[in-house]
Amino acid sequence: MTIKKEIRLHNIARARTKNKLGRTDMTEVLLSPPNGRPALVLNADFRPLSYYPLSLWCWQDAVKAVFLDRVDVVAEYDSYIRSPSFEMKLPSVIALREFVRQDRPPAFTRFNVFLRDGFECVYCGSPDELTFDHVIPRSKGGRTSWDNIAAACSKCNHRKGGRLPKECDMHPKIQPYQPSNHKLQDMGRRFPPHHLHQTWTDYLYWDVELNA
Ligand SMILES: [Zn+2]
Repeated sequence: MTIKKEIRLHNIARARTKNKLGRTDMTEVLLSPPNGRPALVLNADFRPLSYYPLSLWCWQDAVKAVFLDRVDVVAEYDSYIRSPSFEMKLPSVIALREFVRQDRPPAFTRFNVFLRDGFECVYCGSPDELTFDHVIPRSKGGRTSWDNIAAACSKCNHRKGGRLPKECDMHPKIQPYQPSNHKLQDMGRRFPPHHLHQTWTDYLYWDVELNA
């Protein structure tokens, strides 16, 4: 079953800007269900499957999982689905019955590299126009891998060109590395979405104060 990725890549810049301006406390806790009535999906240990993007399933997938006995309903919205012979409150929080292990190495994707580096250029800290830099340039044998790719703004990327860090005195603040899933989840907690339903908040541990 796929997790509906509510927060898409194009929202990253906005989230990052918000963070940069110190306005992450603008997350709003909604009393009414968010659009589409998605359910927050928890692992069997009642922690979110993912913080960023936040693990949300559309209500259709959530209801289907309830019928297949794959999840327990932890909290509900005040809205119903009805058929002539049946009615049910829509789940707002569900927990998987079977624990999904999260100790596999994370996928080497654009999103995960940005997330590891906090959506900031590793050279100057800018969140703008992020690209990827080969710290050791490809022309000098550098690979496209976790331990050689870093987030860099296009200015720094351009300035560095095909040179080694020592050749241009541009040293990344962090040496690229393969993060654990745990590390990425930890980073993800720095980027709360704009809106959370009140029933979700007990299961989320953001690093910012929530405006209740
Ligand atoms: Zn930069």
